[in-house]
Amino acid sequence: MAETHSLPLRLNCSRGALAANWQTLDAMSGAASCGAAVKANGYGLGAEEVVKTLLKAGCRNFFVATWAEAREIEAFAEDAQITVLNGVLPDDMAVATSLRAKPMLNSARQIELWRQTGLPCDVMINSGMNRLGINPAEACALDWSGIAVDTLASHLASADENSPQNQSQLEAFRTVFGQIPHQRKSLANSAGIALGADYAFDLTRPGLSLYGGVPRDELSAHIQPVGQIEAQILQTRTLQPGDQVGYNATFTATRAMTVAIISVGYADGYLRGFSGKGIFHHDGQSLPVVGRVSMDLVALDISGNAGLGEGDWLSLPLDLPVLSAQSGLSQYEVLTTLGRRFDRRWA
Ligand SMILES: *Cc1c(COP(=O)(O)O)cnc(C)c1O
Repeated sequence: MAETHSLPLRLNCSRGALAANWQTLDAMSGAASCGAAVKANGYGLGAEEVVKTLLKAGCRNFFVATWAEAREIEAFAEDAQITVLNGVLPDDMAVATSLRAKPMLNSARQIELWRQTGLPCDVMINSGMNRLGINPAEACALDWSGIAVDTLASHLASADENSPQNQSQLEAFRTVFGQIPHQRKSLANSAGIALGADYAFDLTRPGLSLYGGVPRDELSAHIQPVGQIEAQILQTRTLQPGDQVGYNATFTATRAMTVAIISVGYADGYLRGFSGKGIFHHDGQSLPVVGRVSMDLVALDISGNAGLGEGDWLSLPLDLPVLSAQSGLSQYEVLTTLGRRFDRRWA
């Protein structure tokens, strides 16, 4: 949407970095095709630009959570497959049969509902996460006639850890292969790709690492940040020893210092966990957050950066492991809570 004036808060995203991350994950997926989870507005970065960029890179399988998200991307994802992970309820049938996107069927009831359409679908097997999906024994006992299963899928609960659960989920998933007719198999999310060839099957489904997330060390050398926040300085002020900053006066100056108030806050997804912990940047200098993060504002210590003033832009690369460590949020939370007030700019 064209803005009539410039916004004081930007989310700069790199098409090159996003495409490079997908290519890295595609290569690590070996013989499997690499898809992309683009739910939650492309993990907060903007689903439309994410899908268009990944299509150009060669991605042909996209995963969203809801039918509304599928409708949003279907218009420009013409020669790609779209799967709705949250499945299909009776209330969804009208929209589900009007779109090209297919459901990930998650229960026997959903299979009955979908059988009458004759349309293609994917099927989720619950291999131990106990979130969505059909239990293996139940799946093997079902009547699969008239169900055109494209991809038989399951989802790893602990792929970011060296947990025995990974192997046990792999084994549980394997028990259904001979019992359900299907075209392809899919198990690995971002972290699962780093678990190696046994987990790749025919199609991988990374989300987090496309956007710069590093859920396992094996990925850290290969995945790059995709986004960078920039916020404008609204005001600067000098403090004397004893002056306090922000709600509940959690910061007290122990020396004379200069602070900048910038136009980002917890309503933008820069949550209160960054209070007293976050760090913005300018010209290679670190500018620490002082006091509490407010809804729309943050105070930074800019002492020693005498040139900075109202209207200047300060930056924060979305280095997700760093931001997660500072805030106590997961890398997923840091990304997907990024709010609506950003001017999302792709280059
Ligand atoms: C979100 C999701 C993914 C992507 O997971 P990441 O950890 O972000 O790579 C893959 N599969 C399913 C079923 C999901 O819900």
